[in-house]
Amino acid sequence: MKGTSLTKFWHEIQETKEGLDKLKKVPMQEYIEYMSLLEESENIWRKAKQKNDYEIFRPTLEKIVAFNRKYVKYVETEKLKGYDVLLDEYEKGMTMKDYDEFFSKIKTELVPFVKKVLDKKLELDDSFNKLSYPKEQQREFFKYLAETLGFNFNKGVLKESEHPFTSGFGTTDVRVTNHYYENDFTSSIFSGIHELGHALYEQQINPELDHTLSGGGGSMALHESQSRFYENIIGRSLDFWKIHFPKLKSVFKKQLRGVKLKDFHKLINRAEASLIRTEADELTYPIHIMIRYDIEKALFAGEIEVKDLPRIWNDKYQEYLGLEVPSDREGILQDIHWAGGSFGYFPTYALGSAYAAQIYKVMNRDFKVLKSLQSGDTKEINAWLKERLHKYGSTKPPKELFRICVGGKFNPKHYIDYLIKKYTKIYELK
Ligand SMILES: [Zn+2]
Repeated sequence: MKGTSLTKFWHEIQETKEGLDKLKKVPMQEYIEYMSLLEESENIWRKAKQKNDYEIFRPTLEKIVAFNRKYVKYVETEKLKGYDVLLDEYEKGMTMKDYDEFFSKIKTELVPFVKKVLDKKLELDDSFNKLSYPKEQQREFFKYLAETLGFNFNKGVLKESEHPFTSGFGTTDVRVTNHYYENDFTSSIFSGIHELGHALYEQQINPELDHTLSGGGGSMALHESQSRFYENIIGRSLDFWKIHFPKLKSVFKKQLRGVKLKDFHKLINRAEASLIRTEADELTYPIHIMIRYDIEKALFAGEIEVKDLPRIWNDKYQEYLGLEVPSDREGILQDIHWAGGSFGYFPTYALGSAYAAQIYKVMNRDFKVLKSLQSGDTKEINAWLKERLHKYGSTKPPKELFRICVGGKFNPKHYIDYLIKKYTKIYELK
C-alpha cells in the first residue's frame, strides 16, 4: 500500500466489513448445509442439462432458492429488502428501482423495435462464413487485434482456453485467453476483442493500486461496460473494419477472396431471435437478460415457485422473442448461474452494455470516436477511458465511478437510442 493513504481504501474496507457482518447473521449450520449443497448442485445441473430434464435439477434448485429467500430475510436492512439484497451483492448500489426503470424501457421501447428488425431479412452473401478458418491464422489475427487495441505485451499474455476469460493480478500481469473455432471464425474475433476490453481496463488502472483492495475494476457492470464497448461499439463498427478488413483478408487470403466489406459488416451485426443467451447478438441480448430479471424478481417476491419456472421461461421467450423453446436444455437449464446460487448477477451483463452506450455518447462530445479509428489504433479512446474511469480502479463505489466517467447519472435512454440508430441503419428501416 506504499505511498497511498488508507482513506483511499475506506469504501473497500467498509464493504469487506459489511460482508462479514452479513455472514454473522446467518445461522452457521444453515450456511454450512448450503455450502455443501452448492458443492453438488453444479454437477446435478450439468446432468439435468445433459439429459434435458428439468425435474432432475428441480429439487436442488428448490433448496437453493429456499436458502436464498431465508438469507435475504436474515441480512435485510432498512434500506435493502428482498431481491435488492442480492442485486446489491453483484452491483453495489443498484436496486429494483433502478433495474425496473431500465428493463421497462427495454420492454416498451426495444422489444417492439426488435420485432421490426426481425421481420426484415438482411440481404447478404455469407457463403464465406461457412468455410474453414485454421486456428493458427485466427491466433495471428487475434495478436494483431491486441496490438491494434494497445494491449501491453510486457504486462500481460494471450493464451487459449475452452471459455475465453481475463484475469488481472495487478496492472503488470494481465492474462487473456481466447478460443478458436475453425467453422466459426468471427467468434474468436469478438470474444477476443471482448476480453481485450477487460484487459485494457486492468492494465490502465493506476499502478499505485497494484496489490491493494482497490487494484481491480470498479464493479461487474463497469468491467462489462468496457468489454462491450470495445467488442460492440468499436469492434462491430464499419469504421473499425474500413481500416482492418484488408488485414483480415490478408490473413485469410483464400477464404476471404472477393468478399465485400459490406457483407462482412452485415454478417457481424446480423440480429436473430435465438434461444441461447451466450450466443445472442448485440440487439437481442438485453431481452434475454430482461427475462431472467423478471423471473428472479418474481421468485424473490414469492409470486412464482421453482416448479413453475420452465413454463414461465417458455412463455416469456414466446412473448418477447417469438420463439418456441423446444427443450429444457435450450431453455431453463442453459445457464449455470442459478446452480451456483447466483441470483442478481444477470442484470449486470445488460447494465454493462447500457453503460457502454452512455460512455460512448459522452466520449463523442470530446472527440469523434469512430473517426479516431482512422489512425489505425485506439489510443485516443484508451486515453479517454483511462482518465475518466480506468485509473481509479475500485477506489470509489461503482455508481460514483460511473458518475465521474459520464458526468451524470445512468440513463438507459442512451442505450436504446444507440441500438435503434445502429440497427435502423444496418437494416435500412423506415
Ligand atoms: Zn465479459
